[in-house]
Amino acid sequence: MTDDARSDDDPAAPTVSCERCDREWKLDRDRDDLGPGSHAIEQFALDHERHTGHYPDDVTPWLASCDRCPDGERFLSERPARRWARTHARHTRHAVRLDPPTGDVEVVSAEGPSERSPP
Ligand SMILES: [Zn+2]
Ligand SMILES: [Zn+2]
Repeated sequence: MTDDARSDDDPAAPTVSCERCDREWKLDRDRDDLGPGSHAIEQFALDHERHTGHYPDDVTPWLASCDRCPDGERFLSERPARRWARTHARHTRHAVRLDPPTGDVEVVSAEGPSERSPP
């Protein structure tokens, strides 16, 4: 009876706006072959940054950069940023600097005090 899950308009179609470009984009699902909408936004933001050098509104990346390796990674949410930092620190024994959009820089090291995760 309530098998009406195939509605054509997607209320969750995310929009992204950029004040600097004075534009707004709607990310429809057709263009998203990566899966959930959040990925579309991340992908869009990364693309936008690549093309313009800045991120769209409301998108501030987490920066994870290794003290020893030349490159770091940018993430648009906390969880993958922390995971990358922890994984890199553990695998390489390097200290990774984690720079959140707001707040203080953290350093994630392999010998971090709080290693209490295995699910
Ligand atoms: Zn822009
Ligand atoms: Zn490293």
